[in-house]
Amino acid sequence: MRNPQKKPTLDSVTSINDDGSRFVIHPSDVKGSFTLWRKVSALFLIGIYVLLPWIPINGYPAVFLDVMERRFHIFGITLAAQDMWLLFFLVSGVAFTLFYITTFLGRVWCGWACPQTIFLEHLFRRFERWIEGDAAARKKLDNAPISGSKVFKRGLKLVIYFFLSAIIAHIFLSYFISIPQLWEWLHNSPKEHWKTFLFVAAFTMIIFLNFTWFREQLCIVICPYGRFQSALIDDDTLNVAYDYERGNPPGHVKEEKAGDCIDCRRCIQVCPTGIDIRNGLQLECIGCAACVDACDEIMDKVNRPRGLVRYASDRNLEGLKTRFLRPRTILYSALMLLGITVAGFAFNSVKPAVAMVTRMPGVPFYVTDSHIRNQFQIRLINKDSKELSFSIFAQANGQSAIIETSGTPDGTILQAMEERNSTYVVQVARDSFTGAFPLEILVIAEPGHVQILQEVEFLGPDPRLLKKNTP
Ligand code: SF4
Ligand code: SF4
Repeated sequence: MRNPQKKPTLDSVTSINDDGSRFVIHPSDVKGSFTLWRKVSALFLIGIYVLLPWIPINGYPAVFLDVMERRFHIFGITLAAQDMWLLFFLVSGVAFTLFYITTFLGRVWCGWACPQTIFLEHLFRRFERWIEGDAAARKKLDNAPISGSKVFKRGLKLVIYFFLSAIIAHIFLSYFISIPQLWEWLHNSPKEHWKTFLFVAAFTMIIFLNFTWFREQLCIVICPYGRFQSALIDDDTLNVAYDYERGNPPGHVKEEKAGDCIDCRRCIQVCPTGIDIRNGLQLECIGCAACVDACDEIMDKVNRPRGLVRYASDRNLEGLKTRFLRPRTILYSALMLLGITVAGFAFNSVKPAVAMVTRMPGVPFYVTDSHIRNQFQIRLINKDSKELSFSIFAQANGQSAIIETSGTPDGTILQAMEERNSTYVVQVARDSFTGAFPLEILVIAEPGHVQILQEVEFLGPDPRLLKKNTP
């Protein structure tokens, strides 16, 4: 057990005692408007996580990352491996949005939307409270000697935690293999898909260890976003903050010279990372606002105004106005809008069909008695959920050469999600060939009249040599 009077220093961590042993944090329960809205937000986000693989859009789950087939179905848009460049815009748009939000609201992501907080606070700790009781009872159980009741409670908690971890891991897997496939595999022997089985088993154990043992240390010690925070916030960022001027010096309600803080330590007791918000903004603060509700509860009891701990900027605490328009918010909002706009255009340009034309390896052209011939390989991909018919046209830009084609026939049918490589031969009459020229290959997929145009070069020998060797 840690000395509860221990003052934090720059090189100390709340979850580690001075002797290096672990200090287990058992946050007390708290009620209030922020806690209520956090519960609503958590339920909503857990609902999204569970339901997305079940909601069909254009014949596929809303989010289905089919790694085996290299197809990624995201809200009705299907991306093939060739479309992966689009993810750059998506990821950078999301990153700048997060920068923008952090600049305004500090670590609101961590406290309100991060899966680590959501699952720990609103799922695993809920069962812990139900089995082991409130914070005081849990601490008592920690320190109690082994007994039948302790073994039963801890055993039951671990079994439930294991099942919750397995469910979270299997839902995660369903994003990659779809629900029907997951259901089928669950009924088969693990030997038939042992790699996936090992992945899910390992992932289940990681989730289990994280929420059973590692917990808030992930936010305090590992998560890089907490470190970014100090670079992204400034004096105008709204963080969970203690009003130092109003609260200090802390003291008993009846003490005349004391500030509004009655030093009840309730804000520390409810903090999931075990910090004292009265020491100012700290890296460990995940912005969950539990201490805001806790302190408001106390202020109500002692008939003092709420908001001793509240969302406030440093400038606001100094009695100045928070500036919402400032260089970094303008820059981040511009970058965010740019990222979102480009991502929107890029995703809009995604077509349900792909055609790629490449020259066949080996000899670049063939010369026969009557023709010059070039051979290409066409890779056709149907990313749609219905069959598509592909027609291919070759046209010489500004050339009088008469083009003949063979190989891939017009009206080539590809089933949904089918991919096919075929040969496409283009030839021109020998006496009309006047030198290499650009060749446009137009692929039209029906229904939908999706057009894909690609330019290649039609190659041949020096026309003077052809004339010399004309039979
Ligand atoms: S809950 Fe409020 S009154 Fe109590 S110690 Fe924290 S800041 Fe002070
Ligand atoms: S200091 Fe307050 S806002 Fe920060 S993590 Fe602790 S309870 Fe949450």
